[in-house]
Amino acid sequence: MGHCSWALINERERLYHDTEWGMPVHDARKMFEYLTLENLQCGLSWDLMLKKREVFRQCFDDFDYDIIAGYTEEDVQRILNTEGMLKSERKVRAVIHNAQCCRKVRDEFGSFCDYLLAFTEGKTILYRGHAQGRVPVSNGLSDRISKDLKKRGFKYIGTVTIYSHLQACGMINDHAEDCPCFHWINANCPTIQLEPEGEGKQMTPSGVPASFAFDDSRDTGK
Ligand SMILES: [Zn+2]
Repeated sequence: MGHCSWALINERERLYHDTEWGMPVHDARKMFEYLTLENLQCGLSWDLMLKKREVFRQCFDDFDYDIIAGYTEEDVQRILNTEGMLKSERKVRAVIHNAQCCRKVRDEFGSFCDYLLAFTEGKTILYRGHAQGRVPVSNGLSDRISKDLKKRGFKYIGTVTIYSHLQACGMINDHAEDCPCFHWINANCPTIQLEPEGEGKQMTPSGVPASFAFDDSRDTGK
């Protein structure tokens, strides 16, 4: 007990929940890694993303967007031919494209991480009601960030994808109130409490993050 129930499906997901999901990220490479996992997930299960993470690391130079931004056609083929890699050329090209966008953001803001964290002034947001299970699939914050990323040329970053990313990288604390991680983040990370804003009508079933709940209906940011 005392745990986000969605994370109890298997050991891999439990470990991800306990050590990564919702922990504030302060590292640009990790920030890009999380966003990339969201991009690659579209239409697939999150568990598959976790299972294939080592393959992704190997394919994409440990998610270093500086290196990925310089990938050539040969790299696209290398990645598509890697054993265990997803066979979606469109997704592979999107990762490379977004890495190029990240590099531009870095040139303007210092790092991709600083750019994103500026939206919450470096704090973790705790929305009233979320810890009690009223978790939306998107909100005003994800709308704004999605729009800004779109303006900067990023692909596959619709508001649902971004909301999911904000949960994962700890810009929003959506752990359940009886989860130890909820309390740990509250006690150890700069947190700001806000009223919910701009939430759509759609709620995730009992606090399950969109990544886990909506495998096939992810927005693609078009
Ligand atoms: Zn939790």
